[in-house]
Amino acid sequence: MIPRGRFAPSPTGPLHFGSLAAAVGSYLDARAHGGEWLVRIEDVDIPRTRPGAADAILRSLEAHGFEWSGPVLRQTTRFDAYVSALESLRRAGRAFPCACTRREIGEARYPGTCRAGLSAGKEPRAWRFRTGTEPVRFTDRLLGPFEEILEETHGDFVLLRADGYWAYQLAVVADDEFQGITDVVRGADLLDSTARQVALQQALGYRRPRYLHLPLVLSPSGEKLSKQTLAPPLDDGRAAESLSAALRFLGHPPPAGLGVADLWQWALPNWSLDRVQRAGVSASDPSETSSHDRTPL
Ligand code: GLU
Repeated sequence: MIPRGRFAPSPTGPLHFGSLAAAVGSYLDARAHGGEWLVRIEDVDIPRTRPGAADAILRSLEAHGFEWSGPVLRQTTRFDAYVSALESLRRAGRAFPCACTRREIGEARYPGTCRAGLSAGKEPRAWRFRTGTEPVRFTDRLLGPFEEILEETHGDFVLLRADGYWAYQLAVVADDEFQGITDVVRGADLLDSTARQVALQQALGYRRPRYLHLPLVLSPSGEKLSKQTLAPPLDDGRAAESLSAALRFLGHPPPAGLGVADLWQWALPNWSLDRVQRAGVSASDPSETSSHDRTPL
């Protein structure tokens, strides 16, 4: 089977070094094994989408020498597919309407209020997935086996939000299936979503991709680099420097002085997952491991 990987950025801001490291890892994992690599713009959360961010991300990927297969898929073109997926879950008894407001639920796990049906006079606001008590199991290619009882951890999670927007968990699962993704390679911040995605795949009868969660890039103070922590955007004019730093971060220090094309030529035959460390490391000192390592459940 030819591997097919993907990079699926949300256009909430420009790429930063943390997203570059995830993109490089997923690209090399697919392409070093003769596979394909796709780009999907995850613009499903329309209120968080920033105008121009998707184009800036694609320009940045180009500047860093990424080559993707086929057209870029945008989630805003996929709403019909999400409607069908929700309909299948509803027919299978795995999705139910929920009338609870955020205030009623609070920050805690969903208590199952509307599981058995809406109380009289209540209007449906969101749709939720009916989680089970049986453990969901998957094995991460870097971090090993995980097991999670979703009813205890996340509870019945949202598929269609009360504000009318599709939830990331449903969209990503429908799109990975549609695009025939065999290998999901992404940052370890998304490890917490994987059991929910596997449960949805099982309920929908979809294929399950293999999962690989890469270490997170941390700021020198130990925080995850993200748009929320105001990580600086990549400078497309210094693509070779950023690409070498991303390779170093992933345990593949390249020879000094190479340009973008030569860095890829060097990295493709040299890529080996055994050299990628498990823990998050600080971008300024990739040899330093951190306590952000996740303990398998
Ligand atoms: N769109 C998600 C993000 O930017 C990534 C989703 C994924 O790789 O599954 O965090």
